[in-house]
Amino acid sequence: MLKQETSSPTASAETTPVLWAFFRGELVPLADARVSVMTHAFNYGTAVFEGIRAYWNGDEQQLFALDLVAHYERLKSSARLLMMEIPYGPDELAAQTVDMLRRDGLREDVYIRPIVYKSSETIGVRLHNLDADVVIFGVPFGQYIDTEGGIRAQVSTWRRTDDNAIPARGKITGAYVNGALAKSEAQLNGYDEAIVLTQDGHVSEGSAENLFIVKGGKLITPAVTDNILEGITRRRMMQLARERLEVASEERTIDRTELYTADEVFLCGTGAQISPVVEIDRRKIGNGRPGPITRQLHDVYFGAVRGREEAYRDWLTPVY
Ligand code: PMP
Repeated sequence: MLKQETSSPTASAETTPVLWAFFRGELVPLADARVSVMTHAFNYGTAVFEGIRAYWNGDEQQLFALDLVAHYERLKSSARLLMMEIPYGPDELAAQTVDMLRRDGLREDVYIRPIVYKSSETIGVRLHNLDADVVIFGVPFGQYIDTEGGIRAQVSTWRRTDDNAIPARGKITGAYVNGALAKSEAQLNGYDEAIVLTQDGHVSEGSAENLFIVKGGKLITPAVTDNILEGITRRRMMQLARERLEVASEERTIDRTELYTADEVFLCGTGAQISPVVEIDRRKIGNGRPGPITRQLHDVYFGAVRGREEAYRDWLTPVY
């Protein structure tokens, strides 16, 4: 998905724009943003990252980057967990990202990937006394998982890493092996997505999405102490539910069987956006189709991120 193909000798400039990366403090062609195999982060998973979307609005001929500063604030917190200080503030990184996107010149939806990584070329498991570097790149990106008809999920046999093992609160590259184990198990078993439980058997989240259930006209989502990533989309969903649907949200521990008896379930995240879950472990959720609250949130969310909801224009940074 993130394979860069601009160096293909047969590619024409028209079909494959040159993409750029912010790398070692400057913009370079993405194909030239390379690190050594000895890089600490490559050997030990000692990097933190973000996933940010930018949405193309054809009517306005504008690309809108979503919640840039919030993502860079979370990147900074994640970096601190791994004892890295980023030499740029969230606003500076947001500005660098806009510069890079302008240079890319894409006129379609984009996925932006910032990474802060242990760049020392050295052997040895530790976090201290190592250099760190920042890289940011963007690639054209469409759907990650279905957002319309609903997906089928499996409660994973893999458990979420605990805060005292690898903190889920940090978006740590090495920790994504946990999500990858769960996602592949689910997909190879014929499901679309995995729902992962905490060590003590409560609902945590999807492989790369936060989870909500709807019960009695209210949204319920696992608390931030249930080994979730504190999702930015999760916060936005609660805001839209409150402000646009007059639906309240509760953050609390969720039992596994509450999934089966919920009126609606959905996953959300930057990549996933909003994805209705219509079946879990071969049990239909509600009537087996996306429910009314999920559908309303879906519509208002997509309006907001494409710049079609005046009230939420402050979520967006125009690139052009
Ligand atoms: N949980 C995990 C494990 C994730 O990887 C993501 C995607 N970043 C999310 C939740 C959703 O977070 P956000 O809405 O900030 O993208």
